[in-house]
Amino acid sequence: MSAHPASVAELDTDFTLLIDGEAATAPSSLEVINPATGHVFARCPAAGRHELDRAVDAARRAFPGWRDTSYAERTARIREFCHSLRRNQDRLARLLTMEQGKPLGQALDEIGRAASQSEGLTQIPILPQVIEDNDQRRIELQFYPLCVAGIITPWNAPVNLAAGPLTSALYTGNTVILKSSPYTPLTTLKLGELAREHFPRGVVNVLAGGDELGRWMTEHPGIDKISFTGSVKTGKAVMASAASTLKRVTLELGGNDAAIVLDDVDPRAVAPKLFFASFVNSGQVCMAIKRIYAHERVHDALCDALADEARQAKIGSGLDPATQLGPIQNRAQYDRVVGILEDTKRRGARVLAGGEAPPGDGYFLLPTIVADIDDDSRLVREEQFGPIVPVLKFTDEEDALRRANDTRYGLSGSVWSSNPARAAALASRLEVGTAWVNQHRATSAMVPFGGAKESGIGRVYSEMGLKAYLEPRVVSVLKTPL
Ligand code: NAD
Repeated sequence: MSAHPASVAELDTDFTLLIDGEAATAPSSLEVINPATGHVFARCPAAGRHELDRAVDAARRAFPGWRDTSYAERTARIREFCHSLRRNQDRLARLLTMEQGKPLGQALDEIGRAASQSEGLTQIPILPQVIEDNDQRRIELQFYPLCVAGIITPWNAPVNLAAGPLTSALYTGNTVILKSSPYTPLTTLKLGELAREHFPRGVVNVLAGGDELGRWMTEHPGIDKISFTGSVKTGKAVMASAASTLKRVTLELGGNDAAIVLDDVDPRAVAPKLFFASFVNSGQVCMAIKRIYAHERVHDALCDALADEARQAKIGSGLDPATQLGPIQNRAQYDRVVGILEDTKRRGARVLAGGEAPPGDGYFLLPTIVADIDDDSRLVREEQFGPIVPVLKFTDEEDALRRANDTRYGLSGSVWSSNPARAAALASRLEVGTAWVNQHRATSAMVPFGGAKESGIGRVYSEMGLKAYLEPRVVSVLKTPL
């Protein structure tokens, strides 16, 4: 372990893969576009099968040594890595904004959160459980690491969504192959550079590459577990492919979160909170609010207040300190969101704010609030994953609950009321992995997070999430001497 982590000056220069503790290149490369301009601003190596095989071999070789280190030793190394993230927070955040588009303040938060969540995970003890212990026998449930974990991440929060699984796998004694989205590979490669300073060779391997690299990982017989964060469609392909080697899978997939706003709220007070939870990262958040169900008594005032929020929001490059909402991250997603917007307009729904692209370059769309839209429209049924949100009217809470649950998604949801107990009773009937009251998007390393229905399988964070990187083993000892 070097006492001199990668210096800040090195961070903006070139990009390399991390294989077997060494910086590595590849014959192919990826072009990375800044979504605020629509232009290529960097290139990085794209791993092929050869680089993947080398990374898998290295991770398997490194496994016995890493498995046999103590939790205390692994915790110490993870915490040093987190300090290194914090030391390099400004440069990493700038790079993240350039490749992902989010405002710099949110990019700084993402790096800081990656560090604090990782530290939080290392505070969770993993201990054997004694099931029975008497004069005759002792039965103990132990937990041991799986071996090599493959981590595949999406483009919306590449650092945070890498850090959780990365730390979980490492803390529990597994070695890792991390692959980022081809749209946002750069900051993840820099994480690899930093990780190189803190972990023995082969323990952490970081690759960039296209979708096919993800597919090869899910098929690879040398990888024992896949932690996948991404769309429902790809999640299903991952699970099907992982079946051939019976890999363990954790799937963190898309959401279509509903927020149910009851009749006793002050619409002006709640609107900024709902707006932020819907439009943060321009709506490109798995657990962003994607449908707002408002009681008829507050519906019109809430629509007005949300439309005001949308009109006041400052849109632009994430590097401009005044910017609150950046661009949509890539062209394909931009076209999808524009398609949903066109469908919304064709159906005669009311666009209360936004509804068009501002002039200039980049994949920008004004934050858009929609009312009077059918429950069977694309905007209500699909995960829009962009800056456009419908407000739907209800008169009866049971009807709101039925409509909120009428979806194949089940990531999270929330209920808003001046009476938290009343809201909690309704929240407890949402078919989701997390139901919030008077808040949305509140997660912590100590609390399990994940999706019901087609929003995923398994949980991240907490003891439950860590145990997804461990195999349970019952050791049953008959105490009577033979
Ligand atoms: P995506 O499914 O297109 O891609 C995700 C990753 O999978 C990328 O690295 C991609 O290269 C890789 N990939 C593509 N095809 C693959 C295959 N056949 N096998 C293996 N890997 C493959 O998702 P995206 O568009 O990058 O991300 C947006 C989606 O991610 C949204 O649906 C969002 O809700 C979801 N998401 C979920 C969570 C969560 O915690 N539940 C968090 C963030 C994002």
